[in-house]
Amino acid sequence: MNLHEYQAKELFETYGLPVSKRGIITDRNNIDEALNLIDFSNGCVAKVQAHTGGRGKVGGVKLCSSYEDVIAFVEEWLGKKIVTIQTDSAGLPVNVISLEELTNIDKELYMSLIVDRGSKSISMIVSEAGGMNIEEVAETNPEKILKAQLNENFKISNEEIFKIAQLLALNESQKEQFKSIVDNCCLLFKDKDLSLLEINPLVITDKGNLHCLDAKINIDENALYRQVDLVALRDASQEDQREYEAKQSDLSYVALEGNIGCMVNGAGLAMGTMDTIKLYDGEPANFLDVGGTATKERVSIAFQLILSDVNVKGILVNIFGGIVRCDLIAQGIIDAIKERSVDVPIVVRLQGNQSERGKKLLNKSGLNVIGEDSLQHAAQKIVELVK
Ligand code: GDP
Ligand code: MN
Repeated sequence: MNLHEYQAKELFETYGLPVSKRGIITDRNNIDEALNLIDFSNGCVAKVQAHTGGRGKVGGVKLCSSYEDVIAFVEEWLGKKIVTIQTDSAGLPVNVISLEELTNIDKELYMSLIVDRGSKSISMIVSEAGGMNIEEVAETNPEKILKAQLNENFKISNEEIFKIAQLLALNESQKEQFKSIVDNCCLLFKDKDLSLLEINPLVITDKGNLHCLDAKINIDENALYRQVDLVALRDASQEDQREYEAKQSDLSYVALEGNIGCMVNGAGLAMGTMDTIKLYDGEPANFLDVGGTATKERVSIAFQLILSDVNVKGILVNIFGGIVRCDLIAQGIIDAIKERSVDVPIVVRLQGNQSERGKKLLNKSGLNVIGEDSLQHAAQKIVELVK
């Protein structure tokens, strides 16, 4: 789960990390109130709040030197959508804008904490080449990427921190600030079950102080049950609507570009089903795992999800009955189809526990549902039908 930058900065503040003062607006009538919260004498930085980076490159982060600049920025963005290199072509809605006190920058650094599969640890990545695309820096100037691993207590030793500070050519006071930032970030990462914490840029101000100019936080979805305060910060408007609804029903759903809706029980089987569709030159419209405990209700919700995608021209259901009873699933499918007038072809492959009874139910339902025994035949069939 992602947070907005302003929410991440509020968390940063509680962990003693230096961020700019800001005023938040969700309504153009609140501009004055927001500006009253900051020192506007040198202007401010207006920042679109959306779950994406790369805002600066498309005008979503702008230095405003006058009140008129702020008004113009709000007029330009509030209620609109922002499209960046990190979003899809539809972009993300802009419902919040942050007006931040201006920082004068001497140098832009990069810092992040990530779950590093390679080293099987949490790693800190730091670079003197901040403000830029860090993947690009890693490609072209790998020597500019400094790395350190957190130990099992989520800490980096003082020795390592100061070594990196030395490589960044920080002065004595900046080294101490750097150590405090690293320590606090590590603590925040651990306390809040983060999977990513990124500060890009971490700047050295004209007064020589380290300052977090941007803040990106990603929370491990699997830990949300014990991060109740953070769950309250979820902004559904920034997520794929169907993926969001699926999450609410404990279904694993990922939207894709194709036109064959898939409903499968088990992630591995879902992958296999998508592969088989592709093998016959079809394109899946989604990945959907209804889980090992597929019930009539979950099948119904899954159908609703798949059918809400206007690109879906056919549905392939692939259920392997282990604990799940195929006859109950078949009844779920029949009910779901009857509830809403489904006008796309549906191919169903049932195997395992009570699959014969399931197939009989489907066949005598009088509905336009084709039962198949093998996945190959089922995939071939649905690809034919959507063509
Ligand atoms: P992103 O493009 O979405 O990653 O948004 P950032 O928060 O990183 O802002 C983009 C860029 O705007 C930064 O890299 C800075 O160069 C610039 N910027 C942001 N805040 C300030 C500020 O207070 N003062 C100055 N001079 N530049 C800023
Ligand atoms: Mn940034």
